[in-house]
Amino acid sequence: MPTVEELFAPPTEVAAHPAVVETIRLCDEVIGPHAPAADDPARGVDPAHPRALAAAGLLSVRVPIAEGGLGAAQRVDVETVELLAGTCGATWFVVTQHRNPQADSASPVKGLPADAYRHGPAAAAHRPGLATGATLAGIAVAHIRRPGPPAVRAEPAPGGGWRLSGSAAWCTGWGITDLTMVAATTATGRFVFALVPTAPRPGLRAGDPAPLAVMGGTRTVGLELDDMAVAPDEVLLDVDAAAWLAADALRTADTRPATLGLLRRVLVELERLGRRRPEVADVAGTLGERGAALREEAHALLIDVPAGERTADRIRLRGEIAELTVRAANALVAARSGSATLLTSPEQRWVREAMFHLVQGQTDVVRRAQLAAFAVS
Ligand SMILES: Cc1cc2nc3c(=O)[nH]c(=O)nc-3n(C[C@H](O)[C@H](O)[C@H](O)COP(=O)(O)OP(=O)(O)OC[C@H]3O[C@@H](n4cnc5c(N)ncnc54)[C@H](O)[C@@H]3O)c2cc1C
Repeated sequence: MPTVEELFAPPTEVAAHPAVVETIRLCDEVIGPHAPAADDPARGVDPAHPRALAAAGLLSVRVPIAEGGLGAAQRVDVETVELLAGTCGATWFVVTQHRNPQADSASPVKGLPADAYRHGPAAAAHRPGLATGATLAGIAVAHIRRPGPPAVRAEPAPGGGWRLSGSAAWCTGWGITDLTMVAATTATGRFVFALVPTAPRPGLRAGDPAPLAVMGGTRTVGLELDDMAVAPDEVLLDVDAAAWLAADALRTADTRPATLGLLRRVLVELERLGRRRPEVADVAGTLGERGAALREEAHALLIDVPAGERTADRIRLRGEIAELTVRAANALVAARSGSATLLTSPEQRWVREAMFHLVQGQTDVVRRAQLAAFAVS
């Protein structure tokens, strides 16, 4: 019978890709040893680590070579994300924000009708830096997924540009990133994405880092905007709100590779523990087989099936994988016993990270799928 490590092993050509080899090296030598500190709000993610990932091309795995990226296949990208998220959730979470403004200036515009959106000057101006990761970006967009009155409003400024007012509840990497993409809603049913320096300025105040039970070292803050001026050249994108939400719903339906990375790490550790304890080996085998099967399905939907197809399957699967990740992390604590709850033990951190994967990029339908998965297990 294959081991959990074998079940989760990537295809040979993916394992041999330089991006994967370099991710493993950085995780083993640099990021992994710092993971307990990165989790600690008092110490946090080392700002040098996102830069090291960028310098190695690991924030640009799929970016075309002509634009300074590695031009690798999506399966390679997925592998690097799984490895990083399974090593240090906080470092992964800081750098994952960068993908949004990097990908076609503000994913998910890809696939939208051309008349639904307009890129602003910031798209071309920052594209080279974002593509290579030389310019690191964060985002404050979750609020535009919420129904009801807009959390951040954009009003046209006399002479061009916008003025933004309201509250953005979440912005990770404040003080680590160079730029932040802030989303706001116009009175005409559009979203404006501004790309502004990650720094206080008139009309923009960042709160203190949120007192989080997980991702405490990611410098996650709330932003208060009070008539903040956005210059015309700071506009990244202007998009029809309904079209963006529809595209976002397709994108958020998919399981995050990062969740699979945590699941994989926890199951591998469970298997290692099982080498000394037969009763642990049994649960590692059972959960490992289930996890590998769900992961294979998630990879197939993410990589091989066009977005917009089998959306209900994707959402169900995302719920089931989130639930299995929570269960596997807790199984590891049960197997490890009391020492797992020491702050020096990674097991308690993985339980908290599994909790975090429930809410990251969560939408109403995703939440329902998670609850359904908890109800049947
Ligand atoms: C530590 C941490 C760091 C984060 N960092 C960032 C960041 O850097 N940038 C960022 O943009 N986001 C960030 N987030 C937000 C994250 O990605 C999720 O969007 C967020 O956790 C969901 O929680 P919420 O409080 O926004 O939930 P809610 O406001 O409950 O929204 C969750 C979902 O439910 C839906 N919903 C809510 N109310 C209703 C309703 N009445 N009817 C129908 N549907 C409804 C919304 O559409 C939304 O999709 C962060 C979150 C955490 C916990």
